Amino acid sequence: MGLEEKLPSGIVLTSVEKVVNWSRKSSLWPATFGLACCAIEMMATGAGRYDLARFGMEVFRASPRQADLMIVAGRVSQKMAPVVRQIYDQMPEPKWVIAMGVCASSGGMFNNYAIVQGVDHIVPVDIYLPGCPPRPEMLIDAILKLHDKIMEEPLGANIRRRERPDYQPRELVASSVRYSKDGKKAARAGSEA
Ligand code: SF4
Repeated sequence: MGLEEKLPSGIVLTSVEKVVNWSRKSSLWPATFGLACCAIEMMATGAGRYDLARFGMEVFRASPRQADLMIVAGRVSQKMAPVVRQIYDQMPEPKWVIAMGVCASSGGMFNNYAIVQGVDHIVPVDIYLPGCPPRPEMLIDAILKLHDKIMEEPLGANIRRRERPDYQPRELVASSVRYSKDGKKAARAGSEA
């Protein structure tokens, strides 16, 4: 459907909030990285058959500083946890996270000491996508659900929240620190953003 059909009279009445959210959801740029087998499905989603470019997302960015969507595609090992967190910290606001697959969402079948039992121990997750692996159609569905979520986000909510006198910054601790025996940050020396 072209703009002409959407705008038959040539006049648009809307709010700044809707325009900003529309432009944000229409130009999500994912960070380029994959952690395990789910990444193959993510790559397939970006290729010609499924064509993520339809949603303004063909630009998988090599630098997290140019990305606003993190697709955690695969299981997160304890060793990778600080790295994933660092990539997240380097992404500019506003930013969103999709946990792709059962491993990223909950550790999945890897219920052991080597795997983080859900990437939400490290970064805040917006969409959990089940499956092992989720097919490209499922990833696209998750992305479209994220679009809906972005369209509902009130403008300036994060700024207003930070300006409240009772605001306490939420400390997101990498699980390699959270579950270390002594809980010391030194456990991930050199991994701070
Ligand atoms: S959910 Fe399945 S496909 Fe995805 S990383 Fe885990 S084992 Fe691999």
